[in-house]
Amino acid sequence: MVSIDKLSGSPSRSFSREGGPAEDRVIGNRADASDPTGPSDHLSCEAGDDRRALALDLQRRLGYALPARVLAAAVHETFPGRVAVVSSFGAESAVLLHLVATIDAATPVLFVDTGRHFPETLDYRDRLATHLGLTGLRSIGPDAAEVAALDADASRAVWDPDGCCAFRKVAPLQRALAGFDAWISGRKRFQADTRFDLPVFEADDDHVKINPLANWSADDVAAYVADHRLPPHPLVDRGYLSIGCAPCTSRVAVGEDPRAGRWRGLAKTECGIHRRLPIPTEAPSASLPPSAVRAGREG
Ligand code: SF4
Repeated sequence: MVSIDKLSGSPSRSFSREGGPAEDRVIGNRADASDPTGPSDHLSCEAGDDRRALALDLQRRLGYALPARVLAAAVHETFPGRVAVVSSFGAESAVLLHLVATIDAATPVLFVDTGRHFPETLDYRDRLATHLGLTGLRSIGPDAAEVAALDADASRAVWDPDGCCAFRKVAPLQRALAGFDAWISGRKRFQADTRFDLPVFEADDDHVKINPLANWSADDVAAYVADHRLPPHPLVDRGYLSIGCAPCTSRVAVGEDPRAGRWRGLAKTECGIHRRLPIPTEAPSASLPPSAVRAGREG
């Protein structure tokens, strides 16, 4: 059972950089005066509906709070020992990780090592974790048997990117999150049209999801990085403003959406960890003509 009456953060209507954006940018706050879910002292986390009710209540209480307050409530009050951070150690990851380190440096931090990352990302992961004193870093990913069965020639990103993300990212993360009631992401509304209404608290059938930086702008992020002298991902200087796996990440031109370099040329905009892609079960040879596999190798 999760007691939510411990939460003392009250919504604030004025915002500094630390607190997030101006009120008129909080366009996706789903817990407003019309919210039919009234305050509740105790809500179960055992079912999806209850998780969604809990997320709505948290959103009402803390949807306007400072990110540090949101994190403290999640880590120390509402989900002690049952919340993890999920980080890609990408272009903006240092901000959330720095905030987490100030709340509790032992908080579990899950990094999905897909096996397709830039070497610079793996190096940055290790250096940044050391720099911030994070002691809960866990690298997870597909096991060798899955890779051999589903993507032995590493071509799946070309001919089936959703399936590739599903077995390299979604399934390992699902397994790792099985021991947690909630997880924290660094997603923000400004990053993409698909995130324009992202709340600070949301839920699916299995977890409450917490987005402490949802309200922040790009300027908020840049200012926090400068104020705290956070080390940048080494690829940012080379034009990569959103960084995922190497085969699916390209440089971004001046003026482009920061995520325009992800899966460039495809309709795909998200890896699937927030929408549960179906996990593939067949090897390439079982479903594809040889030409498609050849094209993947060449890509
Ligand atoms: S981002 Fe690309 S390489 Fe990485 S898991 Fe998804 S499809 Fe595969």
